[in-house]
Amino acid sequence: MFNKVFKIFADFDGTITTQDVGESIFRRFGKKDLIDVIISDLLNDKISAKESWEMMCRAVDPVDKKTLDDFINNMEIDPTFRLFVDYCSANGMELFVLSDGFDYYINKIFEKENLSHIKVYSNRLSVSSSSRLVPSFPYLDANCLSSANCKRNHIISNSSEQDFTVFIGDGNSDKYTCQFCDFIFAKDDLLKFCEAERITYFPFKNFNDVKLKLEQLRVKKRLKKRHQANMKRREVYICE
Ligand SMILES: [Mg+2]
Repeated sequence: MFNKVFKIFADFDGTITTQDVGESIFRRFGKKDLIDVIISDLLNDKISAKESWEMMCRAVDPVDKKTLDDFINNMEIDPTFRLFVDYCSANGMELFVLSDGFDYYINKIFEKENLSHIKVYSNRLSVSSSSRLVPSFPYLDANCLSSANCKRNHIISNSSEQDFTVFIGDGNSDKYTCQFCDFIFAKDDLLKFCEAERITYFPFKNFNDVKLKLEQLRVKKRLKKRHQANMKRREVYICE
């Protein structure tokens, strides 16, 4: 009866987790003053996301892997996320996690939560033999400066023009990206951005809020796609 196809794209840090895990790691293990400057430079568009991650990794002294892993294992996810994952699969909504953070901690957290089946696109991080953090960026795109993992490209390559695309996020790396989606769920910095830029969005506090709204959209007789999102997608097709 409800034959609309929804594709769900969710940010990880601060959206699925209760705090920004990437930032917390660098603030805990890096030189705090330096990390603050790097983050502020990123937020003020003085450096790209890739540059900020590389600088932050350099600002971390050799780490003890066990201490790092214990720190990550103490991170928590939004308690309503699991039910949301179930809701998506019960209703045939494909869910993708798009993160400008790192596989190293996302995989650990999802493993701990028995959510490893979720498709994740992120940057990569490893701990070298000399105990240094080494980042790499398999999804880098010069057109996406505020996210070293170009979230936009994952949205476009994982959805067709007929699909209803949904973005759920909270922060800097979502500002450019969310505009390519039909429905935007925003909190914190992303919410302020959508307000300032007059982008239509739904505010949310947790994934229950998202689920309730999404269900309204799912059963709606006539659902319109967001014209601005279509235009944005088209710009990419034309330019690239
Ligand atoms: Mg975030």
